[in-house]
Amino acid sequence: MSTQRSCDVVVVGGGLSGLYAARLLAAAGVDVLVLEAQSRVGGRTLTGHFADGTFVDDGGQWVSPGQDCIVGLAEELGVGLFPSWSEGATVCWRAGERIVSNDGFLPQDGDAAFAATQTAAAALAGMAEMVPPEAPWMAPRAEEWDATTLHEWLAAHVGPMAARRLPCLFLLGGLAGGRSSGGET
Ligand SMILES: Cc1cc2nc3c(=O)[nH]c(=O)nc-3n(C[C@H](O)[C@H](O)[C@H](O)COP(=O)(O)OP(=O)(O)OC[C@H]3O[C@@H](n4cnc5c(N)ncnc54)[C@H](O)[C@@H]3O)c2cc1C
Repeated sequence: MSTQRSCDVVVVGGGLSGLYAARLLAAAGVDVLVLEAQSRVGGRTLTGHFADGTFVDDGGQWVSPGQDCIVGLAEELGVGLFPSWSEGATVCWRAGERIVSNDGFLPQDGDAAFAATQTAAAALAGMAEMVPPEAPWMAPRAEEWDATTLHEWLAAHVGPMAARRLPCLFLLGGLAGGRSSGGET
């Protein structure tokens, strides 16, 4: 069955960005249509539920100081927030093994992996310096970096497999408030 629908603006993708853009346009009186490839909206945010009702977030979950827009939007929409940990031991689950670290740092996989992790983290920080937060599309290498996944970047720049895991965890730790300790990963 084919349907026809005319509109002023088509938003491609119903992740948070597309939905928010559509919300702004609709509020301004624009006739907007959101096209989403999947059977659900939300994109890289997805909450799964266990039979007992507890939940786990498979995608975006934390907001931290500085993410004022998303915090404001959550408040506006009545989406509740609750505190997360930033202190205590770090617990890392890896291949079924539970590793606890009390020194405020993620478990290491040897000196080579640690050094490679530090190099990768410094390189990522250097890249971040080149991206203006208020207009990230104006960064000199915006198009190239926008087309690169974190996995691709790590595979190209970080040798030891063990070291590739840690920058991802650092990033998630940063999103959690700039600390990598005090949670279960
Ligand atoms: C594991 C994980 C943890 C994260 N944790 C955090 C966190 O704690 N805090 C935080 O702030 N951020 C976090 N993020 C990042 C955050 O989830 C994303 O930045 C945000 O959800 C991106 O939203 P978006 O709408 O820009 O893109 P997406 O969520 O990727 O949405 C894009 C949408 O467009 C659709 N689409 C793509 N192409 C087409 C097409 N051609 N036609 C139709 N539809 C299309 C896709 O199906 C998708 O639904 C995390 C991400 C991941 C993966």
